[in-house]
Amino acid sequence: MRCLSTRGQDSANLTEAISVGLARDGGLYLPEQLPLVALRAGGSLAQVATQLLAPLFEGEVLAPALEAICSAAFTFDAPVKWLNDETGLLELFHGPTAAFKDFGARFLAQTLGALVREPTASSTILVATSGDTGAAVASAFHRRPHFRVLILYPDGRVSARQAHQLGAFGDNVAAYRVAGTFDDCQRVVKEAFNDHSLRARHHLGSANSISLGRLLPQMSYYAKTALDLQQAGRGPTSFVIPTGNLGNAFACLMAKRMGLPIDRVVLATNSNRGLADYLNGAPYEARASVATLANAMDVGAPSNVERLRSFLASPSDEVRADWVSDEAIRACIARTWQRHQVEVCPHTACGLEVLERLRAKGERGTFVVAATAHPAKFETIVEPLVGHVVPAPAALAALLELPSSAKPLAPTLDALRLALEA
Ligand SMILES: *Cc1c(COP(=O)(O)O)cnc(C)c1O
Repeated sequence: MRCLSTRGQDSANLTEAISVGLARDGGLYLPEQLPLVALRAGGSLAQVATQLLAPLFEGEVLAPALEAICSAAFTFDAPVKWLNDETGLLELFHGPTAAFKDFGARFLAQTLGALVREPTASSTILVATSGDTGAAVASAFHRRPHFRVLILYPDGRVSARQAHQLGAFGDNVAAYRVAGTFDDCQRVVKEAFNDHSLRARHHLGSANSISLGRLLPQMSYYAKTALDLQQAGRGPTSFVIPTGNLGNAFACLMAKRMGLPIDRVVLATNSNRGLADYLNGAPYEARASVATLANAMDVGAPSNVERLRSFLASPSDEVRADWVSDEAIRACIARTWQRHQVEVCPHTACGLEVLERLRAKGERGTFVVAATAHPAKFETIVEPLVGHVVPAPAALAALLELPSSAKPLAPTLDALRLALEA
């Protein structure tokens, strides 16, 4: 499938777009068209992913490998937990690092692995993370030959467990704690990609949510959920998606465009409300990010807005959005435990809170909130609110047992250049 840059000065086939990440004109790639698909319910996640992505990979060198890539990437499920007849949580946290980022990161690692041709040239995957991406990418590429991973995260702005996770991999994974915000990390990474000689010398590869290799596979769990619920007589399904950099939610919009039985797509941000304001009619402006309890969504200038703006005919047509304060996040976590005996992470709480506001206005029908991380990843916030210890899933617990270390890094391209040479 031909992919066009949002800035109109570059195009590439899908395989190329996945391997280079950012388009050469500084824009973001989008498939030229999203083909309509007719999929059957009842398949595994890997099967749905293969069928959904097949028309996009048609004619690409990766096409024959697609089925194997999906089976190797999607080895865990995304089940729905029902809170009541019409409201479910789509649990996207059953992967190795306990957040939804595992789906995209593992697909990308399989894809880039399948593209390795010269066994000697080793690629550097450069990733800025607000907490969960780094761990997912590290886990997906850990000990894979021909790859090393450099993670940049904002020092002091990720949870203690997230920080521990990021520094616990070692081997071909190096973690850097950056004196700055997530936006600083993202900016420095972008600068590195825009430096063509640096990019070539280190065979830089992107694993941020700007990469179509992460974005496209994320359509799969929305597709599977929507198909299964329609089959069960509950559809069409609306989704509420906690949003930071807009990768997860954008995937849902693309799945809808490909003809899946998806009704409304509602975005929930934390106090970084620029996106919510924009979708509610304000002019779009990049803002400085503010620290919140839902730290993986502390994004002031979501890069995927550039995709959204070229995708939507007008801002509020297909998507709605609302934002949630820290106080409302806390109240929602406590209330969800009291009412349903379900623990939710602060990001998931943003989604649930936004849905409860819609319900209060009389919104009916099947709504599924994306539960983006396991609550045990944010235990210092969740445990005091629910009044008990939330056990960590096995894979997370195992990582937390390992020693962990990260090096300090200034938020500049020069500092990153030195780290790349190290
Ligand atoms: C990354 C992340 C988000 C935000 O996802 P985007 O694709 O950046 O919008 C939400 N919740 C959790 C737990 C995350 O890790």
